Amino acid sequence: MFDYDLVVIGSGPGGYVASIRAAQLGMKVACIEKNNTLGGTCLNIGCIPSKALLNSSEKYLDVLNHYNEHGIKIDKVDLNLSELMNRKNQIVKKLTSGIEFLFKKNKITFLKGETSFVDKRTIKIESNKKINITAKKYIIATGSNSISIPNIIIDEKQIITSTGALSLKTIPNKMLVIGGGYIGLEMGSVWSRLGADVTVVEALDRIVPNMDLEISNEFLKCLKKQGIKFVFSHKVLSAKKTSNLVEVTLNSLSNQKKIIEKYDIVLVAVGRQPNTQKLNLEKIGIDLDQNNAIKINKEFKTSVADIYAIGDVVSGPMLAHKAEEEGVACVEMINGQKPKINYDSIPAIIYTSPEVASVGKTEEELKKLNTQYFSGKFPFNANGRALTTSNTEGFVKILADKKNDTILGAHIIGHDAGQLISEIVTVIEFGGSSEDIARICHAHPTTSEAVKEAALNVSGRAIHI
Ligand code: FAD
Ligand code: NAD
Repeated sequence: MFDYDLVVIGSGPGGYVASIRAAQLGMKVACIEKNNTLGGTCLNIGCIPSKALLNSSEKYLDVLNHYNEHGIKIDKVDLNLSELMNRKNQIVKKLTSGIEFLFKKNKITFLKGETSFVDKRTIKIESNKKINITAKKYIIATGSNSISIPNIIIDEKQIITSTGALSLKTIPNKMLVIGGGYIGLEMGSVWSRLGADVTVVEALDRIVPNMDLEISNEFLKCLKKQGIKFVFSHKVLSAKKTSNLVEVTLNSLSNQKKIIEKYDIVLVAVGRQPNTQKLNLEKIGIDLDQNNAIKINKEFKTSVADIYAIGDVVSGPMLAHKAEEEGVACVEMINGQKPKINYDSIPAIIYTSPEVASVGKTEEELKKLNTQYFSGKFPFNANGRALTTSNTEGFVKILADKKNDTILGAHIIGHDAGQLISEIVTVIEFGGSSEDIARICHAHPTTSEAVKEAALNVSGRAIHI
C-alpha cells in the first residue's frame, strides 16, 4: 500500500498542472514544494513578476516619450519604484494563492519541504520536521536555477541573478548585463526604461543566438535605438565589489584585449541549469545527460520504473508552457492515454518592446537541413492598425515548404508579436499551409492582417506593399 497514487516534486507550471490533471483523473495526489508559495520559478521569480515590471516600465516610457504626440501634455512625471514593485508583488501573490485554491478545490495535498529520494519507492521531506512518504508513481518537476560564472559571487544586491533584478530597491546608474538572451534583454529593458544606463555583454557575436538571424538583427537595432549598449564577443573574467560599485573585467574573445569598468549593478544572465543536485538521483539510479538534465524517453519515463520527469529539469526549451504541456501529457500517459506533444509547434516569446515571437524552424536551420523553402514577409509600417497605435517597428516572416507550402517556421518582431504568433502555431499544429492563412478573413484594422499579408507574400501576392 502506498500513501499516494502520485507524488509530484515541485509546484512550478510543470508540477502544479500535472497535479491538477492527475486529480481530475481520480488519482490521490500530493505535490511537494520547498518554497512557502506554490507556482515555482514562473509565478514567483520568473514569467509573472518580470512581465509585471516590463508592463510598468513600458507605461512609464510611454508617458515620458509618446503621450506628447497624442496631444496629451503632462508637466511632471514621477516614478515611485516601491509602488511599482508593490504592484508586481500583489500580482505574484494573487496567482500563487490562486494555485493553493486550485489545489484545495482538486483535493491535492500540498506538502512543504525539500525532497530527496530515500529509495526508488520512498521520499524524504524535510522542513520543520522530517517525514517519509511513499507513492505508486513520482513525477520530478524540480525546474531549474541560474548558471553562475566561476569567480563571480552572487549576492543578489549588487551582483545579481534575475531574482535580484526583479526586486532592486533603487534604479541603478550603470548596469552591466552578462548574457544577451531572454533574461538579459527582458530585465535589461526594464531597468533601461526606468533610467539605468544598461550595457549588455554577450560572448557570441549576436543577441539570442538561436533566433532567426534577420529577426535578431532587427531586434538589436530596436534595442540600440532605445539606448541599450552592446559589447559582443566578450566574456567577463571577473566582477569584484569595490566600495559601492562592482569592478568588472571584460575580455575580448578575438584579440584578448581587456576592458575594466565599474557598474552599480551586474546582472548575470548566462542561462539556467536543471535542479537535479539535491534529489539523491544517483543513489536510486536515475540517469542524467551531459547538462545534468534527467534523461527521459518519449513517455517521460526516467531510467527508474514509475519515476517520471518533466519541465525545465529535462532537456528542451526552458519555457513554462512547455512544462505545462509535459505535465498534462505525462499524467495522461500514466493514466493509459496516448497524448502527443508536437515539439515543432512550441512558441517562444521575448516580451520586450517590440516583442519577438517565433515558432518552428529559423531560416538558418532550414538552410542547414537543405530544406527548400519560400519566405513571405510583411512590415508593420504598412499595417493600418500599427500606424494608429504608433507601433510600426518590425515585421512578420513566414517560412513555408517549397514542395507543398506547409508552414515550417514563423518569426515576428512587433508590438504584439506574442499574441499574433498563436494563429500560426495553430495552423502548424493542423499541418496547414501559408495559403490557408492567406485565405482566412482577418479583421480590419488589426495587426493580424500583417500575418495574412506575410502569408500572401510567400507567393508574392501581398496587397498592401
Ligand atoms: P519551476 O517553475 O522551476 O518549478 C520547480 C519547483 O520545484 C520550484 O518551485 C522549486 O522550489 C521546487 N523544487 C526544486 N527542488 C525541490 C526539492 N528538492 N524539493 C521540493 N521542491 C523542489 N518561461 C516562459 O514560458 N515565459 C516567460 O515569460 C518566462 N519568463 C521567465 C523569466 C525569468 C526571470 C525566469 C527565471 C524564467 C522565465 N521563464 C519563462 C521560464 C519558466 O519560468 C520556466 O520554464 C518554468 O518555470 C519551468 O517550470 P517547471 O515546473 O519545470 O519548474
Ligand atoms: P539564455 O540561454 O536565453 O541566454 C544566455 C546568453 O548568455 C546567451 O546568449 C549566451 O551566448 C550568453 N552567454 C553565456 N555565457 C556567457 C558569458 N560567460 N559571457 C557572456 N555571455 C554569455 O539564458 P537566460 O537569458 O539566462 O534565460 C534562461 C532561460 O530562461 C531561457 O533560455 C528561457 O528558456 C527562459 N526564459 C524565458 C523567458 C521567456 O519565455 N520570455 C524569459 C526569461 C527566461
